[in-house]
Amino acid sequence: MEKLKIAIQKTGRLSEKSLQLLSECGIKVSNSDRKLRTEARNFPMEILFLRDDDIPQYVENGVADIGILGENEVWEKEKEVDEIEKLGFGNCRLSLAIPKDEEYTGLEYFRGKRIATSYPKILGKFFSKKGIDVKIEELGGSVEIATGIGLADGIFDIVSTGSTLIMNGLKEVEAIIKSEAVLIANKQLTPARRELLERLLFRIRAYKRGVESKYIVMNAPNSSIPRICAILPGMKSPSILPLAEEGWSSIHSVVQEDQFWDVIDALKDVEAQGILVMNIEKMIL
Ligand code: ATP
Ligand code: MG
Repeated sequence: MEKLKIAIQKTGRLSEKSLQLLSECGIKVSNSDRKLRTEARNFPMEILFLRDDDIPQYVENGVADIGILGENEVWEKEKEVDEIEKLGFGNCRLSLAIPKDEEYTGLEYFRGKRIATSYPKILGKFFSKKGIDVKIEELGGSVEIATGIGLADGIFDIVSTGSTLIMNGLKEVEAIIKSEAVLIANKQLTPARRELLERLLFRIRAYKRGVESKYIVMNAPNSSIPRICAILPGMKSPSILPLAEEGWSSIHSVVQEDQFWDVIDALKDVEAQGILVMNIEKMIL
């Protein structure tokens, strides 16, 4: 039987979350001994554990069919792969930073300056579009110490909270691009593997929708049901069940996480009571 080969990060910031995503999709992977490859127990899938830098290349040449990694690595490696789905974790940005006591005067500040980075292609493209010449010092890691040791005037690196920058006496002056983990795929998958990918994607999307939504239940007098229905977006219209108490109903609906508090505030104004909010594990449309 055909198997879908997925490459995920062996150790690092994305490895646990990648395995967790597979587990949320009902795919059981045991990797207790941290082998380089293993098979899923209940899905035709083989898992390859690799360095994230190598994943774009292996997906391009078909050693792996699909892979999970940061968009930043996908952009930097410039391999021929398809970006299939953003995964909602591993969020970060790529930013320019300079020593904290320097006065920042805008992008022109960097003209003729040396910038250390592990992302020379992304950075080079950015400054060439702006028509600003800079000198890029490519480093494999520990970019944040480059200014302190006199190797560069500024750095271009991944930032999530900014604490690493502060610890190294730097300040973030420009956030250039945002990145998150994505699923990428080989461009010439066999029909059988494409179908397996579709099955996986179906599960990933159901999980993502669940994470992004809340299930809410409330009681209300029947007279306020029309006003409540006008507030609730829901998948279809909300479900309305009569309560034992005459003239009252229980109303059930699904609300997007990002609209959630606004909806709750509005509901309080139309006599909704005993509002319960629950997490949704999976949501299939
Ligand atoms: P590898 O050994 O696999 O090459 P790495 O050191 O290149 O690992 P990690 O530091 O584990 O990579 O980060 C993996 C990815 O996690 C990054 O490419 C980025 O997409 C994402 N990420 C999210 N937040 C951060 C952060 N604060 N610092 C670094 N990476 C982050
Ligand atoms: Mg790496």
